[in-house]
Amino acid sequence: MKLAELFNNRKTVFSFEVFPPKRDNPIETIYNTLDALQDLKPDFISVTYGASGSLADNSTCEIASAIKHRYGIESAAHLTCVNSTKEEVTQVLKKLHDNGVENILALRGDLVPDVEPKEDFKHASELITFIRESENEFGISGACYPEGHLDSRDQIEDILNLKKKVDAGAQHLISQLFFDNNLFYDFLDKARIAGINVPIEAGIMPVVNKKQIERMVSLCGASLPAKFTKMMSRYETRPEAMRDAGIAYAVNQIVDLVSQGVDGVHLYTMNNPYIAKRISESVKSLF
Ligand code: FAD
Repeated sequence: MKLAELFNNRKTVFSFEVFPPKRDNPIETIYNTLDALQDLKPDFISVTYGASGSLADNSTCEIASAIKHRYGIESAAHLTCVNSTKEEVTQVLKKLHDNGVENILALRGDLVPDVEPKEDFKHASELITFIRESENEFGISGACYPEGHLDSRDQIEDILNLKKKVDAGAQHLISQLFFDNNLFYDFLDKARIAGINVPIEAGIMPVVNKKQIERMVSLCGASLPAKFTKMMSRYETRPEAMRDAGIAYAVNQIVDLVSQGVDGVHLYTMNNPYIAKRISESVKSLF
């Protein structure tokens, strides 16, 4: 099923994101995670793609295919383009199609230090057009940034570029993580005014330790509300309390988002089924 159809059938979509095991860890480790996530019955699970766009790494395709066929849950494979040629992307698309993966989250990808970007794709919108024109039909999603992408001059420029992505064929968007729901609502209003009418899922990352959040924030630039930084300072030396507070913070964000009628919530699980389970159990009746 194409992901966009989920939004026609359901009131609010609840989805998860996982990443392939890090280098040197066997691929089987992800199946232990998925065994546990399966019981939580998400509407779909997406699988991230290595930033280098290395063709040698088939794990995203393998895991997205297993989610669909072994676990019976709809899946989406992330695919980046900035470090790939058209020929390489064509090979990945063929592999995804041959393995029965129906949905792609089409991304530019980050520029990798010491890796010269290839010339064929500059923006995700170009990848989206390329996928749409390829011989196999995929559901196509894109990424969006409630606080603007770090490369953009400002949020309006980013939203106008986002519109190009939707005009190119993205049928659904998933947002970057954020910790202040008001920023998301403000972004939604502007996106709708700009004529972006596809479903937009809110990306929620539960924070369970201070190091993790500092790394994420330095990568994506999400702003931290005062109540959030106070929470982190209070519990930074007490891992269990920090974990519980981080879970409660994410639950509060989700309750508010669903109450306000968002299209969906995409939980960055960090491959941690314990945390995904605690959050899902707290919010499942809302979906
Ligand atoms: P784009 O849409 O191309 O946007 C990048 C910048 O270019 C923005 O500033 C935008 O405003 C501008 N821009 C876009 N189109 C145009 C245009 N036509 N003309 C001029 N400027 C334009 N990274 C990975 O490596 N692997 C993953 O699996 C992965 N998954 C992600 C999942 C989600 C939900 C999100 C939000 C991000 C993910 N990322 C992933 C990170 C992503 O690759 C980076 O944020 C990357 O820097 C931008 O990707 P994009 O697809 O949003 O790029």
